[in-house]
Amino acid sequence: MDHGGDSQAVFRKTEELMAVGEYTLALAEAEQVVGALPPDNGAARGALAGYQIDVGSRLERDDIVRTGIAGLEALRGVLEDGHVDYCLGNGHLALGGREEGNAVGAQPSLQKAVEHFERALKNRRDDQVRTNLATALQYQGRYIEALDEYDLVVQANPKHEIALAQRGRCLWLIAALLRHHGGLLVGALNDHLRAIECVVGRPVPDSYTDAVRRLLKRGVRPQIPEKVIGTPTQEWIIGAQLGLDPCPICKTASPGAFDVFPLSGPLRMKRPGGSYEAILDTFNALCRTYGTARWCLMRGLGVVELDPGEDIVLAPTMLHAHTSVRAGLTVTAATQFFMVFQQASCLLNLIFELGHNLRQVDFWRVWAPPDPPKGQRRSAPLAPGELHPKLALSRNFALNALYRLACSLDVRQGRHGSLRDLRNKLAHRIVVVGTEDRESSEYVMMRPETIEMGTLGLARLAKAAIWYLAWTVQGEEDAVLERTPGAVILDGPGVLRV
Ligand SMILES: [Zn+2]
Repeated sequence: MDHGGDSQAVFRKTEELMAVGEYTLALAEAEQVVGALPPDNGAARGALAGYQIDVGSRLERDDIVRTGIAGLEALRGVLEDGHVDYCLGNGHLALGGREEGNAVGAQPSLQKAVEHFERALKNRRDDQVRTNLATALQYQGRYIEALDEYDLVVQANPKHEIALAQRGRCLWLIAALLRHHGGLLVGALNDHLRAIECVVGRPVPDSYTDAVRRLLKRGVRPQIPEKVIGTPTQEWIIGAQLGLDPCPICKTASPGAFDVFPLSGPLRMKRPGGSYEAILDTFNALCRTYGTARWCLMRGLGVVELDPGEDIVLAPTMLHAHTSVRAGLTVTAATQFFMVFQQASCLLNLIFELGHNLRQVDFWRVWAPPDPPKGQRRSAPLAPGELHPKLALSRNFALNALYRLACSLDVRQGRHGSLRDLRNKLAHRIVVVGTEDRESSEYVMMRPETIEMGTLGLARLAKAAIWYLAWTVQGEEDAVLERTPGAVILDGPGVLRV
């Protein structure tokens, strides 16, 4: 961890003790150093809090981590905000890594870590902050979002050993869910081996080598696939992280396979929550909505040229509005990506028999019981006590991932809060693309960049939501299967397994 620039010299002995694993002595030394300095030395107190988090985390002593967190909270406004949030994120990540449970809303420290890292990212677009955010997302089971963040770090810094190793770990976890996709394991192995190459001359953390050894035992060999150039559309979809396939090998060797059907086999279970046909139809509709929205976005962004004859002629206005069909397609894409979330709430209602009136329910309200008491917040409920009782009972990690994604979209928290704001604008007012960002009670003018960036971010979240939903269905199916001996599930096209 970075313990701050100016104070580094006075902490030289602490650093030396940390390097040889004498954590308790290192911390005592740091406390002594800070005790001897004037109490208004914020940088030194911040560094001490950083050591407390680091040492507490290494010794698995939550009390020491919490002391560090309290120390940092007191330094808000004294030290740079981005730095405070980054360190607080690390503190909560250390606590969250040891929190138990797959229940919806479990592991509150992890959620705090995500929120702090997201806030820190607004101030410092830093590879380490992004990597740690991805790690916190990964611990929450939000593998698809984590993968997107690791990809961004590795694109910018191909030798970022932690992002490489963690991305390998993430692919490995996804491979356990997509059981027939060996490319994910090959990708995981490639990442681990690259991470090891990057740390040459320094001790290699055990977890890297262990993971590689396990992969080799399973017969996975490293493989650098030959790069196949796809069509411009396929290349753009992969580059923009909008393909549904998380496999890095497919992306290189067969860019045409940028969409895999997330539910690899039709589900044959007799289940309480709706027939499997209804579930699959809803799920297919959801994927189709996503694909259509992406099609609109590609044309809206000019990735695919439009025939000039397709533009409608409109009266010139004083609003400096862009009246082209392209602008309209981007707005349509944004609306359609929000539709993915709307359909996701329909699917949740169906699978878990939540009993919502779907006309009153959206992705934020679906988590609460139907007709919450007057005055209760009608958005993603925060406290597990506010959840719908049927969702609170679930121990499905993917459902928790989806719930946490909904929390990140909530306007009051998370770096995606502005997207919920965009949704309200699209739903309740006229959105005009134009030369500036301004709004009145009837219409909202947004610059093309604003709506394009927002829609791209939204598209990646919609993609993640599709996967978390697929894994939610799969997890519920597996749970039924466990309780029903002899049940038959159709696993892959035409392959019956008992
Ligand atoms: Zn693949």
